[in-house]
Amino acid sequence: MSDPVHEIVIIGGGPAGTFAAMAARQQNPAAIVTLLTDEPCEPYEKPPLSKAVLLGKVTAADAPIAGPGGLSAHGVRLERHAPCAAIDRAARAIVLRDGRRIAYDALVIATGSTARSLPQLPPGMPRVHYLRTQADAHDLYTALRRSRHLLVVGGGLIGLEVAASAAEIGVATTVLEIAPRILARVCDDHTAGIVHDAHRHRGVTIRTGTGLVSAVSRVDGLEILTSAGDAIACDLVVVGTGAAPNDRLGADAGLAIDDGIVVDETCRTSDPAIFAAGDVVRFPAPHGSVRLENWRHAQDQGTVAGRNAAGAREPYVTIPSFWSEQYDLYVQGAGWALTAGERVRRPLEGNSTLTFEISAGRLVYATGINAQRDLASARRLIERQVPVSAAALADPALPLAAMLKRQPAR
Ligand SMILES: Cc1cc2nc3c(=O)[nH]c(=O)nc-3n(C[C@H](O)[C@H](O)[C@H](O)COP(=O)(O)OP(=O)(O)OC[C@H]3O[C@@H](n4cnc5c(N)ncnc54)[C@H](O)[C@@H]3O)c2cc1C
Repeated sequence: MSDPVHEIVIIGGGPAGTFAAMAARQQNPAAIVTLLTDEPCEPYEKPPLSKAVLLGKVTAADAPIAGPGGLSAHGVRLERHAPCAAIDRAARAIVLRDGRRIAYDALVIATGSTARSLPQLPPGMPRVHYLRTQADAHDLYTALRRSRHLLVVGGGLIGLEVAASAAEIGVATTVLEIAPRILARVCDDHTAGIVHDAHRHRGVTIRTGTGLVSAVSRVDGLEILTSAGDAIACDLVVVGTGAAPNDRLGADAGLAIDDGIVVDETCRTSDPAIFAAGDVVRFPAPHGSVRLENWRHAQDQGTVAGRNAAGAREPYVTIPSFWSEQYDLYVQGAGWALTAGERVRRPLEGNSTLTFEISAGRLVYATGINAQRDLASARRLIERQVPVSAAALADPALPLAAMLKRQPAR
């Protein structure tokens, strides 16, 4: 029989680490669970940072992931200001930047990801902002209120959420997107078109098919040269060009890495005593190994990694999903977009929309705007692999929830 797991250490205070810590304690209430975060605060929700926090409606402190009592209410020891510098796998101990060592029986790496930086607009350059932490959001909140013209580089979810917040505050905003359309990684053309129109309607200029060439600092701002050959004057830039996994700790410790820490279906890395979860992880999925960057994945995979670190042996199975809030649009997606599947659109009223992708008589992906209830049903249709027809999905008179009553596929 293997030794009981007494000391569980979690590195990273995002949703993956926080849910891993709480699940580990639930799985083994006798375990000593310690969560290390390099940030100065209780773990907090990141999604509001680009929306309600920038609009001044909430602060990051209003949304602690572990609830109002924090992690201590769940029996977890939280070490703030505790950046982990190395993993000593032979000694089963982690080394903090201040030299302290903490022994572990099981370790969970949940170090998340970092905003990808552009060489022309390096982090720290005056008037240039990246958005990942509550400190970043605080700085951007202040800068936005002094700005007259914001340039956002990147027409993905975070860039567009920042653009929407800036437009609501009254800052003239331009978005540069190098791809032929916005949201190319997550939405179909029709859904992205509705989002694009909403921005246009609020006065945001979105320039698709246009990249950033260079940036020159001027006395009163920046001049951005674009791939279209023109210059844009602005006094603030936000870069939203994706995220890279914080997998350095794992790589330095000799764990298997492939653009993220590689784990098996139980969230175990190439070292049996080390688990990993969230944005930092590459894991086996139905169509090959993937890395996902969304909140629900971090929460769910963190929970499984925490339980398994405490002695369980559960597989992690997921249907990926995301959401985004821009103006009065609640944009969502669920499933594995295959691009080879058949596309079906369900006409809805107003600025609501639903688009489905079907493959072999099963729903594989759904995106929608202002259609939360339908998206929840679509997610369950995907999960249960219920047989569906294009005609039924396209018919707004047929509730998706009713289709759930059919027999799941065998
Ligand atoms: C501005 C913003 C808005 C978002 N909005 C949405 C949304 O609307 N919907 C959605 O689904 N997803 C959204 N996301 C994505 C979602 O928040 C992430 O996918 C999720 O936070 C990933 O969780 P994680 O725990 O894996 O990593 P993270 O949340 O990145 O947490 C990792 C933590 O580990 C810490 N850390 C890193 N290295 C070390 C170290 N060596 N030692 C100690 N601590 C360390 C980091 O400081 C961080 O606190 C958003 C992300 C951002 C940044």
